[in-house]
Amino acid sequence: MPVSSKDSDISAIKGIGEKSAALFHKVGVFSLYDLIRYYPSSYIRYPGLIPAAELGPDMRAAVKMQVLSEAKVMRFNGRVRLTFDAGDETGKARIVFFNAPYLKKSIKPGMEKVFYGPVRANGSSYEMLQPKMYDEKEYAGMTKGLKPVYPLTKGLTLAAVTKAVGRAFEALPKIYDHISDKDRERLGLGELRESLYQMHFPEDEERYKEARKRIVFDEFYFFLSSVKRMKDEEGVAGNDFPMVEVSEARRLIESLPYRLTASQMSAYEDVIADLGSGHSMNRLVEGDVGSGKTVVAVLAMLTAVKNGHQAALMAPTEVLAQQHMRKISAMLEQYDVNCVLLTGALSEKQKREARQSIADGSADIVIGTHALITELVEYRDLALVVTDEQHRFGVRQRKSLTDKAGDRSPHILVMSATPIPRTLAIILYGDLDISVMKDKPAQRLPVKNAVVDTDYRKKAYNFIRKEVKAGHQAYVICPLIEPGEDDFGENTLEYAQKLREIWGSEVRVGVLHGRMKNAEKNNVMNLFASGDTDVLVSTTVVEVGVDVPNATVMMIENADHYGLSQLHQLRGRIGRGAAQSYCIFVDTSKGREMSERLGILRKTNDGFEIASEDLKLRGPGDIFGLRQSGELGFRVADIYTDADILAMASEYANEHAYDTEEGSADSVVL
Ligand code: ADP
Ligand code: MG
Repeated sequence: MPVSSKDSDISAIKGIGEKSAALFHKVGVFSLYDLIRYYPSSYIRYPGLIPAAELGPDMRAAVKMQVLSEAKVMRFNGRVRLTFDAGDETGKARIVFFNAPYLKKSIKPGMEKVFYGPVRANGSSYEMLQPKMYDEKEYAGMTKGLKPVYPLTKGLTLAAVTKAVGRAFEALPKIYDHISDKDRERLGLGELRESLYQMHFPEDEERYKEARKRIVFDEFYFFLSSVKRMKDEEGVAGNDFPMVEVSEARRLIESLPYRLTASQMSAYEDVIADLGSGHSMNRLVEGDVGSGKTVVAVLAMLTAVKNGHQAALMAPTEVLAQQHMRKISAMLEQYDVNCVLLTGALSEKQKREARQSIADGSADIVIGTHALITELVEYRDLALVVTDEQHRFGVRQRKSLTDKAGDRSPHILVMSATPIPRTLAIILYGDLDISVMKDKPAQRLPVKNAVVDTDYRKKAYNFIRKEVKAGHQAYVICPLIEPGEDDFGENTLEYAQKLREIWGSEVRVGVLHGRMKNAEKNNVMNLFASGDTDVLVSTTVVEVGVDVPNATVMMIENADHYGLSQLHQLRGRIGRGAAQSYCIFVDTSKGREMSERLGILRKTNDGFEIASEDLKLRGPGDIFGLRQSGELGFRVADIYTDADILAMASEYANEHAYDTEEGSADSVVL
């Protein structure tokens, strides 16, 4: 095999042609390097063989059995059902496949296979649904170690990813380790290539834990190094854009339909003090979902504009940028402020016009996605940069936007709802001053919560219909976009269809997910925001920032698939108006531990409390709970449970400057 570098395109791998390369691109894997960092979302330990007599309901089992009958094919409800009997000396089971009539040819009475799959009771006998079939020897190999389960997309199979990852390691016999042997020994960290390998194919749980520790360390280390480098570069810059408080901001505060909370007021005062001080502002406004951070940003931007400068607001999603544009231009209508939107969804012509107005200074406030930081945009006089939902951006993106101010340092205001404990905030946002927004707007009724199992769905649909009749709206959240090969959760497309059938024309149902075109997403979101659809069936794309106060119900399907903090963020989409709101968590786990976790959400609506409970409950040993990572752009690291590694990495980052431009959580030099 030719020597490859980590930057090589994945099509350098044997067996990856144009078609599968395109599938990998869909999940964000372009280079060999991306591929070896495409970590499993969980692992399977294949169980040892049991005799058929030990089959029981609701288990996943592996049994070596002989095929006892010809396969029968039946059709009903548009589905093809193929069944046959199989058994060993101790008992038997019925094997069931859906939509796989082609199996009929290969299933022959007398043949012996290991059947691995979920078991369900049917009367007094047992059925195995869609089992995977293996030769005994093959299966024996699989029971060694943990097998990776990767996030997939339609057409991309688990087997294909697993194989490709294996080949990527073959193509990369050496990976440079940036930590010396000596330091690794001192810190108790594994070697880099070996750790990466064990992340995918761990021999056992112990090895997995060691590997994970190393990868987590690196994620923190690169992150902290880039924060540190930014801080060093900024140094103690003076204030290139000194500003004074403006009467328009006071007027806006007076004319709002509500009174600012004490927290909002004091955050605003912090901002004004910063803008007029001897240094540029570097401030984080941290407040739980719904605490009203947006208006603080608007006041800051209005101040910048009325001091004669430009301001930019960057949001992590198209949907949120659009919403900000809509709401903020309405808020500032009376103040002669020109708001301009710049996002990837605009046509080329619209983009050109937007860029033109940004360059000639006719745009006062620029609102957008990361399109704001593409090379092409030039600002006339950018004095204030606001990033909303800061934790969604890499540190470098924030920095790129500030670079748009040219030689001068703009003021920086970042907003985040991530309820991280203050100690961690100080490490992670070490370069920022923090305004914590503790209190929530008054007149809000706390969200009522219910954790339910699937039997409750019917009632929930009735309840939602009633709320819609009463003039409200609802979200239904599904983990998947479309039906996929791994049937482990609800998907938006089929779910919406089902709801339309149940409700008929009485309730207007919309669908939103991340794979839609931007223009389509906006359209769906606008219809929902204007009340022209009643129920939005969506993936977690609504998780950040979306504000439709008329929505009073959120039903979260497969709630057990998410971490508590993420569920809390999702729930933050409701309870934003004066009416009572309700959140229904559908727990499909059938596990006690999970219902205990979800119970915490029922008890409290306080993001900080949820975060710390989550930490207590999950504990550091929770090796299968990878899901909650990623909140800060980390793939594996978890700022709560890995706090000890974070502290270690922080110390190491202070001793060892990482001096490549590439060093950040998003791009790591191997
Ligand atoms: P977040 O902190 O999650 O970004 P938003 O800024 O989107 O919250 O505000 C949530 C909702 O609360 C918005 O509809 C906003 O108009 C409203 N709001 C903000 N401040 C107040 C307040 N002081 N009193 C009542 N409603 C408020
Ligand atoms: Mg917000």
